[in-house]
Amino acid sequence: MPEVIYRKYRPKTFKEVVGQKPIKLTLQNEIVSKQIAHAYLFVGPRGTGKTTLARLFARSLNCLDRSVDQSEPCNKCEICQLILNNRSMDIIEIDAASHTGVDNVRENIIANAQIPPFNNKGCKVFVIDEVHMLSKSAFNALLKTLEEPPKHVIFILATTEIHKVPETIISRCQRFDFKKIPQQDIIKRLTEIIEWEKIEVPEHILAEISRKSEGCLRDAESLLGQIISLDQTKITDELASLVLPRSNWQEINNLVEGLRLNNLATTLNQINKLVEEGIDLKIFIDDLIDYLRQIMLYQIIGPSFNLDFADDIVENLKEHAQEFPLDDLSRLLNILLDKLSIKESIIDQLPLELGCVEFLTDKKLDQDYQIPKIDSSDLPEHQPSNDDFKKVQDHWSLIIKETKPFNHSLSAILQTSHPLSIDQQKLIIGLEYGFHLEQLDKPKVKNHLSGILSRILGHKINVGFQVDEDYKKSHQKFKGGHEKEVEEAIDTFGGEIV
Ligand SMILES: [Zn+2]
Repeated sequence: MPEVIYRKYRPKTFKEVVGQKPIKLTLQNEIVSKQIAHAYLFVGPRGTGKTTLARLFARSLNCLDRSVDQSEPCNKCEICQLILNNRSMDIIEIDAASHTGVDNVRENIIANAQIPPFNNKGCKVFVIDEVHMLSKSAFNALLKTLEEPPKHVIFILATTEIHKVPETIISRCQRFDFKKIPQQDIIKRLTEIIEWEKIEVPEHILAEISRKSEGCLRDAESLLGQIISLDQTKITDELASLVLPRSNWQEINNLVEGLRLNNLATTLNQINKLVEEGIDLKIFIDDLIDYLRQIMLYQIIGPSFNLDFADDIVENLKEHAQEFPLDDLSRLLNILLDKLSIKESIIDQLPLELGCVEFLTDKKLDQDYQIPKIDSSDLPEHQPSNDDFKKVQDHWSLIIKETKPFNHSLSAILQTSHPLSIDQQKLIIGLEYGFHLEQLDKPKVKNHLSGILSRILGHKINVGFQVDEDYKKSHQKFKGGHEKEVEEAIDTFGGEIV
């Protein structure tokens, strides 16, 4: 049923085809100037108009009533009608995904290509969809035909996976690269359809359909088709939610605002409220990550970056792009992706909560404390204590950050490490792998780290490394539990550290 709309409104002229302007223009010029190639290759994502343009091109070439200076088919003459009704013997469509054998290529294409077209003024057009699915021998057979193409035969090969098409075939074709359809063009098209269907669908729902379909017009039309088949003249948010998973942009906006303003309680309350209201947490999190990503891209690329949202959300998003520091954004995304990779959580929302907590507590730490900029060689000797250990734990993320200018890979390895123990001589850092130990256990690295730690502790301290036999357990415990605030927040919301 959802396909129905797609077929019903399949464009019948070049003018009606959505997007792909340069391709349309070239094909139309070729029709008028009669400079037709023997083989075309249409490359691009699904649902972007490859077969639609192939059929249209074939029809235009065969149309009986098209005047010489025109590129559009008449769509009324006998031939146009035959083709539109899929009854033409001269337009042969093959789905390579279902005919991959070499024999099929022989029967359907090679032999058939030798027979002249029924329309003796026109040409025979083979449209081979998903051409990358052909077997190696089928490609060889096809290649022979492409090398010596029979008169009045045109091949249009379409593929979503160009890397699977042999170079020998590609080099024989005129290649066109289809692009994803821009958001605005999809909305425009959907607006036309709802006008024809005489139904009212609010613009923000159309924008949502367009966003969900990610540049694939066919998917967008299918989704709209499902909404139309609800058989209502006026579509409300509630009706649309039967077809379209509901997004909670306003709620996402509130959550992001809480994070931006360092308000942990508001943020966690917001998550709790959503869960109580029974939202689909998976969709919410996917949308949240998409939203943050768009803020980040808008911040980097600027106004030329097309935001895929309805207008009111775009406004909020732009505001966030102005106020949310880029560093924080990328750190937040990293933390969320890291936390959300935890598959088994006793409480569904816990990974999201932990992510927010980690983001805000780290941020607070950065704001409250700065590593003293002093010369560590002047500091006194002192026996390390348990208080020192606690202090190092508390400032671990700052310490990692401080190592970055010295050596990026050092700071990357330290991300997966933790303070393991302290004795009378030195502080031991626990590592996950033996090869990390090999990389770090060097005087230069140890001196650098002990310099940073000494500046924090106010006295000299030595540093050593060790592979932590109980790595997984102690690392999770360290990352999840060293902040008192984390524990308190989790207590408040009835969670448990997984
Ligand atoms: Zn015609």
